[in-house]
Formats: sequence, structure tokens, C-alpha cells
Amino acid sequence: MGKIKNISGNEKKPNTHNCQTWIEYWEKQSGRKPPTFCIISTPDCLEKASVGALVQKVNVTDGKWYVAPLCQTHSKHYNAEFIVYNTWPLVEINTIETSIENISEVEIISDLI
Ligand SMILES: [Zn+2]
Repeated sequence: MGKIKNISGNEKKPNTHNCQTWIEYWEKQSGRKPPTFCIISTPDCLEKASVGALVQKVNVTDGKWYVAPLCQTHSKHYNAEFIVYNTWPLVEINTIETSIENISEVEIISDLI
């Protein structure tokens, strides 16, 4: 199990790899179909993983941003920490390919909530 912190939902679209949504970005980068259920394991979430949420790893000081397949409900719990299954990869956001402006806008939005 890994621990993640939800930075934001998917208000901002990725502007890379011709993806319209973050879940699509996750799918292309991981080369997998999104999981049926949200990857949050504690408590086990049985809602559909329909959103690519922007997260950071807790207890890992890499400062990197990742995309995690979460359900609609959990994706809206900003700044919340969750335990997730390790079965599904967290897809790292490539900040060189993905506009830095886009990332900072997401940060501002999460501060307001
Ligand atoms: Zn969930």
C-alpha cells in the first residue's frame, strides 16, 4: 500500500499527448486501461475510477506530481491523504512536456478551496 495526498481534481486539462482529461493521460502513459474501481484501499472504495486526480506521494520527498485514478467523490477531497493499492501505477507528470503555468494554476485553485 502507498500513501498519496490529493492536490487537485481534474479542473485543468493536460496540454500534452493530445489528452483531454487526466484519466486519459494516465491511460496513455501507463499503457493500461483505467481500473474499474477507485484505487483507494482504506476504506476500500467501490466507486468507478473515472477521474485522474493530481497527487503527490506522502513520505516520499521527490516533490513530483502524479496522476492517480480515483472516483469522482475522492478526487474532490483536496489536500486529503489516502492509502492506495500498489497494484496500479501512479503516472508521473512530465513538467517539461506539461506546461508549468498549467501546474501553478492548479495549485492556486486548490488553495482557494
Ligand atoms: Zn474513491
